[in-house]
Amino acid sequence: MNKACFLKRRNALIEKMGRDGIAVFPAAPDADERHIYRQDADFYYLTGFEEPESVAVLYQDGSGSQFVLLNRPEDIQAAVWTGRLAGQTDACSLYGANHSYPMNQLEEILLMLFEGKQKIYYPMGRYPEFDRMMMTLMNKMKSKQRAGSCFPSGWMNSEVLTHDLRLVKDEQEIEYMRKAAKMSAYAHREIMKLCRPGIYEYELKSYLLSEFIRHGAAEEAYPAIVGGGRNACVLHYNQNRDLLQAGDLVLVDAGASYQYYAADVTRTFPVNGRFTREQASIYQLVLEAQLAVIEYIKPGIRFAELQSIAVKVLTEGLVTLGFLKGPLLQLIETKAYSAFFMHGVSHWLGIDVHDVGDYKVAGESRVLKAGMVLTVEPGLYLSEERLDLATEWKNIGVRIEDDVLVTETGCEVLSQDAPKTIQEIEALRS
Ligand code: MG
Ligand code: MG
Repeated sequence: MNKACFLKRRNALIEKMGRDGIAVFPAAPDADERHIYRQDADFYYLTGFEEPESVAVLYQDGSGSQFVLLNRPEDIQAAVWTGRLAGQTDACSLYGANHSYPMNQLEEILLMLFEGKQKIYYPMGRYPEFDRMMMTLMNKMKSKQRAGSCFPSGWMNSEVLTHDLRLVKDEQEIEYMRKAAKMSAYAHREIMKLCRPGIYEYELKSYLLSEFIRHGAAEEAYPAIVGGGRNACVLHYNQNRDLLQAGDLVLVDAGASYQYYAADVTRTFPVNGRFTREQASIYQLVLEAQLAVIEYIKPGIRFAELQSIAVKVLTEGLVTLGFLKGPLLQLIETKAYSAFFMHGVSHWLGIDVHDVGDYKVAGESRVLKAGMVLTVEPGLYLSEERLDLATEWKNIGVRIEDDVLVTETGCEVLSQDAPKTIQEIEALRS
């Protein structure tokens, strides 16, 4: 556990908040038995602490930045069943808290720390139980205020602090994301090699998962999509239960979660190892759009430009292939392409698969900066419901998705080890 990187993040947040502010972050509520506990993303980002029933308080005073952690006390009896808790001692020595108190002192400690501050930041509306506790405190503060104490009057959503910070990744985060993307790319490559007609979509998923876990991933970052033929044209397909057939493409959208960081990678390839002429022309067009977007990424450009580039390349190609007719600009303006390409080409990636951070700032599309990580994922979907399509064009669904880090000079494709040219993919099975 790299204590220094969490300290740096806390200090950045405290600096943004200023002297008048105090921020309170609750841990995610306890998981039910069917789920493995996963810490709240903001809480983890700032503390690295993975226990439920904890609250982190950040502020500054005369002696500098302060981190107070309220967490469960050590419990020797419970340790037999669920393992050792950090308790108050490790909260300070391992996690860098300046002070740690047992959770049953939460209200009392918060009231003490709030006094004299002007603004309280916390994740409003995220956890109903925590919201209720904060409302109770607010009422207590009101009555104390009447008795002369001075409590914060400004209540702010802490997301205004954390989302911008999390958008630009630090070195530790980049290292984890590089690893999550690398193991995901490797798993995609492996299933391309072993796929054949007559295996089930869920079999490919099980290979992906076993590769993720074999490389140290905790779990998949989101429910994998393994869709053959017509299923490749269903954007959120995740039943993954059909048989893969010769002559079909299979679309695989799957990424590992490593140390809380997600990869989000999609590859599309022929079940029997060879693209048909029609599949190859659609695939090549999506690939060209993807490469054009990646080529363009560097600090200083705006997020919305990525969509425009993808739309332009895809629309031009759809005209060449005869699927769209008319002047290019008009086709773009009327969104004629959206019959084939109906989703965004990119989203932020980080602890959350669709990571936090506004896409617009003051009404303008966000300018990219070194350290941001985003996906590039154009696609074309020719579903069987389209009566205007000849049979050989039906059920071709192609998406190609990579994870891209914005660097000082351009970008780095974190998931580049997953094969994506037609030659590379066909060569894997020759
Ligand atoms: Mg994806
Ligand atoms: Mg994605």
